[in-house]
Amino acid sequence: MLKTQFHAIAPQLKGQVWFTNDQQFQVRKKVFNHSVDNEPFAIVEVHCEEDICLVIRFANTHNLAISVKGGGHSNTGSCIVNNGIVIDMAVFKTIIIAPDKKTVVVGAGVKNRELDAFTAQYGLAVPLGTCPDVGVIGATLGGGIGFLSCKYGLTCDSLINVKMIDANGTKLTIDQHSEPELFWALRGGGGCQFGVITAMELKVYQVPQTVFGGIIEWPISQAKSVLEQYSKQVLSGSRDYFLYAYISRANKKQAKISIMGFSTAPLHECEPFYNRVSDWGLDAKSDVCEKTYLEMQSNSYESELSIYWRNGFISGALSSEFLEEVIRCNANCPDDHGGIMFDPLGGAVRDLAINETTFVHRESSFICSVTGVCEGASMHSPVKNWVDDSHTKLSAFYNGRAYQNYEYLGKDELSMYFGENSNKLVELKQKHDPHCRFFGSLNRHIYGN
Ligand SMILES: Cc1cc2nc3c(=O)[nH]c(=O)nc-3n(C[C@H](O)[C@H](O)[C@H](O)COP(=O)(O)OP(=O)(O)OC[C@H]3O[C@@H](n4cnc5c(N)ncnc54)[C@H](O)[C@@H]3O)c2cc1C
Repeated sequence: MLKTQFHAIAPQLKGQVWFTNDQQFQVRKKVFNHSVDNEPFAIVEVHCEEDICLVIRFANTHNLAISVKGGGHSNTGSCIVNNGIVIDMAVFKTIIIAPDKKTVVVGAGVKNRELDAFTAQYGLAVPLGTCPDVGVIGATLGGGIGFLSCKYGLTCDSLINVKMIDANGTKLTIDQHSEPELFWALRGGGGCQFGVITAMELKVYQVPQTVFGGIIEWPISQAKSVLEQYSKQVLSGSRDYFLYAYISRANKKQAKISIMGFSTAPLHECEPFYNRVSDWGLDAKSDVCEKTYLEMQSNSYESELSIYWRNGFISGALSSEFLEEVIRCNANCPDDHGGIMFDPLGGAVRDLAINETTFVHRESSFICSVTGVCEGASMHSPVKNWVDDSHTKLSAFYNGRAYQNYEYLGKDELSMYFGENSNKLVELKQKHDPHCRFFGSLNRHIYGN
């Protein structure tokens, strides 16, 4: 019945629509995390703003939830809403740069790799995350942490304005002056909360022709020493060096601790710096060298994997007790199935006041993520249990917050992501999307699912 009604409006669409039995439907409902198998009513690849308005009107008439698919990297598959309509932004590929003004307009289907490749032609970059296939808009809505964030801030800190179509089908341009509350909420408030974003304008920054970076690895026996030094380095607040740390089980014989480093500092400063980092533990192996920024941003992430992750923020240093717990948890990881990762904060991330955007985690020092990985389309219970057990143990050291971009579906997710901003975000949701048409975390909170 509903399908027949949609067929009646389909000729007005410039884009395409797929239902359950269409082959393309099965392709389009897939997300990076292969264990997600959500089943929407329809997937619409919209080709223009009028298509979006048409879908919103249909959803309003038939009381259907809408999710928006950008790069498809929300780990819980929240871009694919069960029984609702998915608006797929894949063809919104506009990128318009104004190198003199140091700004770029980015369409909602643009992925990190496409924006990086485009801006690199001008020696410029937006501070993006490190996965080339993540959607720029999806990541910006939740913050956006990557190699340039200690130097230039989160991706959402570079936001200038947003083009959005709201639940009434009204086209809005949102910036600091015209819609300050929504502008505040869109910088860290998470995906698909208030409308369909068609484009964003962002600041771009100069990056040198060559940067310095790569991976240093040590045997797992060196983990505590390396992570203690790592903690000191991150807390020094240096804006020139951005370091991830990763402790992985990989396989029993080769468990290791790694640092992935990045710097735009001059070569004569980087070499001695990374030599000192190699000395954080014994038997280091390093591939750190000069590279282009695009090479640093071209990490390859294996596809067709099932992922389950939980995370928490840490204030201050990585304590000795915490590191011992991390190492114990890692030792219990089922072989080949995951690891524990640290993202650093600090530097320019702290330049904005806590209440200037919805991203409440600016005073935190690290995100710690326990990640379970399985090949294929199902997450095995021993791996999931390992993630949950480790998360429970490590939570004693977290500060009660979790990163909204590393989404997980827990009852407490709203306060974990948004802390003291939760109530204001719920009020804004009720004002701008009173029927909860858009399926973001605020929607799940209001409906209690
Ligand atoms: C392998 C991997 C690596 C990652 N690396 C990083 C990293 O380095 N740094 C970092 O900060 N994060 C990282 N992330 C997290 C990533 O930033 C978030 O998952 C982000 O939300 C993904 O955006 P997307 O568009 O790819 O995903 P989607 O699933 O398509 O979208 C994510 C959310 O945003 C909404 N959304 C997307 N587009 C729109 C739009 N146009 N209008 C309204 N709502 C929209 C969706 O409905 C959904 O709720 C990583 C995730 C993965 C899986």
